[in-house]
Amino acid sequence: MNLVQHYINGAICASTSGRQQAVFNPATGEICGNVVLADEAEVHQVVAAAKNAWPAWSETAALKRARVLFKFKNLLEENQHIIAAHITREHGKILSDALGEVARGIEIVEFACGIPQLAKTQFSDNIGGGIDHWNLRQSLGVSVGITPFNFPFMVPMWMAPLAIATGNTFILKPSERDPSVSLILADLWQQAGLPDGVFNVVQGDKVAVDALLQHPDVAAISFVGSTPVAESIYRQATHLGKRVQALGGAKNHLVVMPDADLEQAVDALMGAAFGSAGERCMAISVAIAVGDIGDRLLERLRLRVQALKVGDGFDSQVEMGPVISAAHKERIVRLIASGIDEGAQLIVDGRGLQVAGRKAGFFIGGSLFDHVQEGMQIHREEIFGPVLCVMRVPDFTTALNIINRHEYGNGVSLFTADGNIAREFTRRVQIGMVGINVPIPVPMAWHSFGGWKRSMFGDVHAYGEEGIRFYTRYKSVMQRWPESIAKGAEFAMPAVK
Ligand code: NAD
Repeated sequence: MNLVQHYINGAICASTSGRQQAVFNPATGEICGNVVLADEAEVHQVVAAAKNAWPAWSETAALKRARVLFKFKNLLEENQHIIAAHITREHGKILSDALGEVARGIEIVEFACGIPQLAKTQFSDNIGGGIDHWNLRQSLGVSVGITPFNFPFMVPMWMAPLAIATGNTFILKPSERDPSVSLILADLWQQAGLPDGVFNVVQGDKVAVDALLQHPDVAAISFVGSTPVAESIYRQATHLGKRVQALGGAKNHLVVMPDADLEQAVDALMGAAFGSAGERCMAISVAIAVGDIGDRLLERLRLRVQALKVGDGFDSQVEMGPVISAAHKERIVRLIASGIDEGAQLIVDGRGLQVAGRKAGFFIGGSLFDHVQEGMQIHREEIFGPVLCVMRVPDFTTALNIINRHEYGNGVSLFTADGNIAREFTRRVQIGMVGINVPIPVPMAWHSFGGWKRSMFGDVHAYGEEGIRFYTRYKSVMQRWPESIAKGAEFAMPAVK
């Protein structure tokens, strides 16, 4: 049986904690491996390795760091099918979607390859009296990434390439539910020529996370996961003086205006609601039908949801795989029941779906609710499953207000043919990432990713320019050489006159 271990200082490191957890193949419901769970001593060991590697790595020229990233990018491309197969086996998403995840992650590495240019700063020549003034962006030290189960490759890639490109060392604490990809990454970093100790992996659960948060040598934490954990990590780690970005959960709406291209809107909703079985932080889980479009939208959605092909993600005919665990499936079933109890109309019921030959898999079919009201549990909470809620509202302003009152603010989308409505929506909506006739507005690598409200804690979004800012400290330097004109002691605030 595959045992997923730590990777510390350039080598696989056998755990001594005595703690392990099973890893499941969600399509078969069978155990496909075990993962070790670190104790505090192992966390101290990994932090020490990352701390030791930092001085030399931070002194390595940016161009040399970029060369490692270029090699890493090539190796990722060569190994994309292996990585995707690991994702499908432990997460369950269909193979083509896993390949898409790998492609989006590689884009961040591509961006980070430009680090000599990206890390360039500003310079002001002769601000007065022979003094030049410029800025430095210096690395922080040991940075940590704590990542969720739903993107075991892409989310670590939001963090590690930029942390490492900017001269930090990095510790990945992947999700214990699909941990194997982390060790492929470690191996490829090493093949790319990254010095030992710059990229490390510690496997674990809350015990490992708490020890990382408490460790005085950890300078920065990037977290992606559910909102309660994100908030708690943000509070604890900022209290200890660490730099933190903590991305949380979501409830993303897609507004369909009466003038929208209905076929496009339905295609968008199907992919965004049921892709990856709804287990995406940018999944659309609520469609808001404005005006008289509701009946036509519902009828088309009903037929499409009923026809969804659900099965093992390795089957190329399948459109939607299983959810991550039996417990998660149970939670989704409970939430569907709560929707019925609170008066929403269940149009398609995915509970009870059986997949031939995969009886023990964690499958649930697509579900579709109509007449969902603001405040119902299925509207308030992130279901993180293949359940699409439809709300009906009379006008644009009502739709906008529902979205703006929601506690989450990750992504949103509007389908319309009216440029002015699109413009108004973009300006007034209280959400971090906005799509106009685009269902899942996941920003490209050179922009930045982040939600508003309780979808993110911290000030600096992930990757892009914001990522460079997160992983560096700003230093302002003023310099004068002895030959420059000296004025003697000055007791008033220096100012250019
Ligand atoms: P999770 O919060 O359960 O776990 C995330 C990470 O935190 C894992 O590494 C886990 O080991 C660790 N963890 C779990 N409980 C902990 C605790 N009590 N204390 C300390 N550490 C803990 O999230 P998940 O179920 O793996 O992922 C799904 C969630 O992630 C969803 O809410 C989804 O919206 C969110 N997500 C958000 C984004 C985003 O960009 N905003 C992206 C992907 C996923």
